[in-house]
Amino acid sequence: MRVLITGGAGFIGSHLSDAYIQRGDEVYVIDDLSTGTIENIQHLKRHPRFHYTIDTVHNHPVTAELIDQCDVIFHLAAAVGVKLIVESPVRTIETNVRGTEVVLSIANKKKKKVLIASTSEVYGLSSDVPFREDGNLVMGATTKGRWSYACSKAIDEFLALAYWREKKLPTIIVRLFNTVGPRQTGQYGMVIPTFVKQALAGRPITVYGDGQQSRCFGYVGDVVGALIKLMENSDAVGQVFNIGSNAEISILKLAQRVKEITHSDSEIVFVPYDEAYEEGFEDMPRRVPDISKVSELVGFRPEMSLDGILESVVDYQIGRRHR
Ligand code: UDP
Repeated sequence: MRVLITGGAGFIGSHLSDAYIQRGDEVYVIDDLSTGTIENIQHLKRHPRFHYTIDTVHNHPVTAELIDQCDVIFHLAAAVGVKLIVESPVRTIETNVRGTEVVLSIANKKKKKVLIASTSEVYGLSSDVPFREDGNLVMGATTKGRWSYACSKAIDEFLALAYWREKKLPTIIVRLFNTVGPRQTGQYGMVIPTFVKQALAGRPITVYGDGQQSRCFGYVGDVVGALIKLMENSDAVGQVFNIGSNAEISILKLAQRVKEITHSDSEIVFVPYDEAYEEGFEDMPRRVPDISKVSELVGFRPEMSLDGILESVVDYQIGRRHR
């Protein structure tokens, strides 16, 4: 099979590339290296079945050529990371909405199956935990930059579902919950790589707010396995799936666990949200997926424990320092 992965030099995209290469498939990546890096795909660059193009999916002719060559498309190219989103809202909205428009319109010409990566962020301020795919999405005010990400991804979802219903383009939507593992950098604000980096350097571990907000952290290898199974399953078409772990932990407990695992002397400090992001920033207190839908369809089960995840991130960061 020939697989196109947009955002293939990103954190999740590069792991997905690895998985398809290992399966013996032909992998094509397009990435503009805005948040992805060559370092993530360095080990694949000389592989005869790996092909990469450094460009944006907004470049219509280039994307059209790649889609033409491939059998299926994973559209992972997007602006990610709450920090980036708050700092660069124009880029977020334009990248997420236009990129998906381009990919879906070209894929539609050849009716190539597309899996669109959406996000748990779309559940917004909903308190209906655990979140189910058919639950309400609760957005905050448009004056709060954070929600532009959720809205841009919700538009992507509407568009992908519309292409399926109206034009019979096979599309699948996945809402990725907090996904972590090696190659994720803390550069765009993600909590686990940030905490691990701080702990290893002996710098203060920065817990935003009071640390009672909770998240569930899924291992990238488990998530990638689910993406591949969904792509192979014809019953997944036209549907939305939550993917992630449902083991919940508060951010304060996470900070304490990172400190223990790294044997760090770092102190844990509390940073107000206004200082960490922007004035009036709204965080969601809990974010837990209901994963029964993806479990029932493809037998998905998160395998890696939180300690296993943290150890993989610690190993990666130590290895990176040596490199
Ligand atoms: N967070 C934190 N310290 C950091 C980075 C993030 O306390 O240095 C918190 C953040 O406010 C949120 C949680 O950790 O409550 C997860 O943040 P992340 O950006 O990883 O993902 P989100 O769930 O917000 O998309």
